Amino acid sequence: MIVAGIQPVSLIDYPEKPCTVLFTQGCVFRCSYCHNPDLIPLESASPKNIEETFEFLKNRKAVVDAVCITGGEPTIHTGLSEFIKRLKKEGFFVKLDTNGIHPDVTQKLITDKLVDYIAMDVKAPWHKYLDVIKKGGRAAIDSCKKTFGVIQDSGIAHEFRTTVFPGVHTREDFFEIAENLIQGEQYFIQKTSFKKTLEPLDDADILDVDSLVKEMRNVFPYINIASR
Ligand code: SF4
Repeated sequence: MIVAGIQPVSLIDYPEKPCTVLFTQGCVFRCSYCHNPDLIPLESASPKNIEETFEFLKNRKAVVDAVCITGGEPTIHTGLSEFIKRLKKEGFFVKLDTNGIHPDVTQKLITDKLVDYIAMDVKAPWHKYLDVIKKGGRAAIDSCKKTFGVIQDSGIAHEFRTTVFPGVHTREDFFEIAENLIQGEQYFIQKTSFKKTLEPLDDADILDVDSLVKEMRNVFPYINIASR
């Protein structure tokens, strides 16, 4: 388990609970719009000491109720389960952010009741997935599909979200993704951040996310669709 960064308090990363965000190091995908490209390599230049991280969290218990574990990609870390067990012992609610690459890890965390909320990136309609993730081929797409199903069947509070990739995503892509969502699910369409990205982005072809969300709500009234 490599924690590369800590955001002491966030009011937006766990629904209705103040949380601390832990950023794990390493990701297997290469999304051009990644706004944490420093977290993609598997090695961190300045990893946090795990014991010190726990001490820090214990001292934050009066201020935060939850811990959001994000990436990079948390599920690539073999120590993730043990790490979360310690968080649960301390009484934290735990949210997992995942790109879906390890369905078995996600399933085990669910079975062991170690996560209270899961957020999964759905990068694109399945047939366009590689245009976004760039790495992993068919096997990666199959894994993400499986994780999507695992989360839908989990009974655990969850959300799916898609970050707009200018020049790659079309408005139709979001309708196609939403076809796979079920009654009551939360779906966020995330506006592109151009501040810091893995690769330069084409900002000439930006979707109007707010009008897209409005249109989609009419077509999918049974899904909670929002922009962020
Ligand atoms: S945006 Fe893509 S490359 Fe960046 S951490 Fe998430 S899955 Fe990995």
